[in-house]
Amino acid sequence: MKIGIDIGGSHIGIGVVSEKGIIIDKKEKYIVSDNKIVDPDKIKKENLKIEMEKFIIENINYYNNLYNIESVGIAVPGTVNKTTIIKAVNLGIENYNISEIIKKATGLKTSIKNDAKCSALAELKYGNFKEFDNGLFLCIGTGIGGAVIYNQKVLEAKNVPGYEFSHMIIQKNGILCNCGKRGCFEAYGSIKRFKEKIATEFGLTNLDNQNIKEFLINNLNDFRLKYFINQYIENLAIGISNLINIFEPEVIVLGGGFVDYSEILLEPLKKQILTGNLLFNKRNDIILELAKLGSDAGIIGATLNDKIPIFNK
Ligand SMILES: [Zn+2]
Repeated sequence: MKIGIDIGGSHIGIGVVSEKGIIIDKKEKYIVSDNKIVDPDKIKKENLKIEMEKFIIENINYYNNLYNIESVGIAVPGTVNKTTIIKAVNLGIENYNISEIIKKATGLKTSIKNDAKCSALAELKYGNFKEFDNGLFLCIGTGIGGAVIYNQKVLEAKNVPGYEFSHMIIQKNGILCNCGKRGCFEAYGSIKRFKEKIATEFGLTNLDNQNIKEFLINNLNDFRLKYFINQYIENLAIGISNLINIFEPEVIVLGGGFVDYSEILLEPLKKQILTGNLLFNKRNDIILELAKLGSDAGIIGATLNDKIPIFNK
């Protein structure tokens, strides 16, 4: 048994994963990624590291007493090296040697990896990349994580993180991103920005997924809402079309919070990318689908850290 930990922009998931990639036990805790997320069990951002460590270490020790745990893998929403979170802009964390801290506290071998790369590994082994040689994984959540699958391997450069799409510019002088630049793909395409935009435009105070989703479903004929959904889809399509142009994938797998809104957003996105009037992309033979493992991909993929060869090995 291994423990997989998925540190998301809005919550942490920790799970015990079997040899067959099945989560047999799991716990989750919500954290604050902005002060608008309403959750009674949220962690204040200023205490994030302390609370995060406490939750992770407590649960590793708890699971280690119940199961025979071999190692721990952590999926991180940001740039990492082999032991350290170099930068996770949506969590406000820099140069944080989390794996060393966890290893010291629990005595278990601990590794970290970018969360989208973890999810892509999981989809490669158990999910929707199994049948394809080349693909892209996009984790559309608090930000936009990404990974490239090339010849059935997740691309990873040797000494730099690489193959991440979040901060490519899709709009000159655009809106300010958490990374400090303007016009980034994730500043327009993340599901968090979409939710915030809808909430601001329509005066919604509760950003809970269920609440936003109900509002969207009940007002799909509202012309202003149609306009904002279309605007979001166009921006997402521009970013994805740029990636199609570069990587020529056979399949694009979409994960993250986007999955919760897929009944509203997936078909318009497919239409825009594959048949859109804007013609950002000329190929119509690309398969766009949702992550098979859903929100569990990060936890499962974190335990595959050293199992699937990466491109540079
Ligand atoms: Zn950015």
